[in-house]
Amino acid sequence: MVQIVEQVLRAQPYQAGKPIGELAREIGMPEADIVKLASNENPLGMSPVAREQANAALLDAAYYPDANGFELKAALAQRFAVPQDWLTLGNGSNDILELLASTFLGPGTSAVFSQYAFIVYAQATLRVGAQSIVVPAREYGHDLDAMLAAIRDDTSMVFIANPNNPTGTYLSAAQLEAFIARVPSSVVVVLDEAYNEYLPPELRVDSVAWVRQYPNVVITRTFSKAYGLAGLRVGYAIASAETTEYMNRIRQPFNVSNVAQAAAIGALQDDAFRQKTYETNLQGLAQLSAGLDALGIEHVPSHGNFVLAKFGAHAAQVNAFLLKHGIIVRPVGGYGLPEWLRISVGLEAQNTRLLNALKASALTR
Ligand SMILES: *Cc1c(COP(=O)(O)O)cnc(C)c1O
Repeated sequence: MVQIVEQVLRAQPYQAGKPIGELAREIGMPEADIVKLASNENPLGMSPVAREQANAALLDAAYYPDANGFELKAALAQRFAVPQDWLTLGNGSNDILELLASTFLGPGTSAVFSQYAFIVYAQATLRVGAQSIVVPAREYGHDLDAMLAAIRDDTSMVFIANPNNPTGTYLSAAQLEAFIARVPSSVVVVLDEAYNEYLPPELRVDSVAWVRQYPNVVITRTFSKAYGLAGLRVGYAIASAETTEYMNRIRQPFNVSNVAQAAAIGALQDDAFRQKTYETNLQGLAQLSAGLDALGIEHVPSHGNFVLAKFGAHAAQVNAFLLKHGIIVRPVGGYGLPEWLRISVGLEAQNTRLLNALKASALTR
């Protein structure tokens, strides 16, 4: 008999949003008629500048990508005014989170994160044989005082998502800085800012300043959400040169494809697309929020490109109804939120279709 390692025996596969093609096959509906509001993707698609540069890069697909991502790192270094040796590229920021776990966690160590925080923190922690310390949420968000109190002698990492997925909750600069200042310098604080670009400018935290001031702070960002490149898989970390060097030792050399690197460079150049994305999301969030209010559906105020809405004991039934009508949202039972569904913000017509379907679903009960 083969032996399966203990961590794998205890692991659960990641529950991804249902692919459009899969639902199309299941219900016999054309793919074009299906609305996917399940994976916090950009409903505007990708930036045309990114697409152009990705297309050009495809001509070089016979070659290995630049293992050090020089051009993309140069663009990021300029944007954030940090040295290139503070940057790590990942196959999505999921890859970055795993690299961080592999660098700082292992058997005999623990990681602290919040209840309802992004599920990858638990998976990455388990995978490397470290212990998860899950701190009860406060109003669906991070309770930073409780997280600080939960840090033990064996704790080497704290994960914080700001804004958090799937709840959409937000922590202010003042709250975060007070927390970071009190965390022992031996504990790495991972600040996951996957939804940063969706925050209004006045709520965006200057987290890079914290990396300068506190070498134990690591920022993770992604091109999957506001930049509309989820399918190409590019994320990055901003961390001290020392941390970056350790992560680089265990990184797969070609973890970001040449097409993905080129697209990310193009996406960074396209300020107009990002602004349009931001505005579309703001309007869509307001539309969904007002629509849910009108239907009397409780939801958590969101700072991301999604809304967590409560359907109580009917959640699974509502989800099935939506699927039958060609709308994919995200069940979050895996997060311990079986009475809720996470709905990504779509284009106006998609949001309308979702809200109409929710209304119809309530009438059928
Ligand atoms: C989507 C998401 C990520 C990572 O996405 P990638 O596609 O792997 O970059 C990371 N953190 C949070 C909180 C997310 O929601």
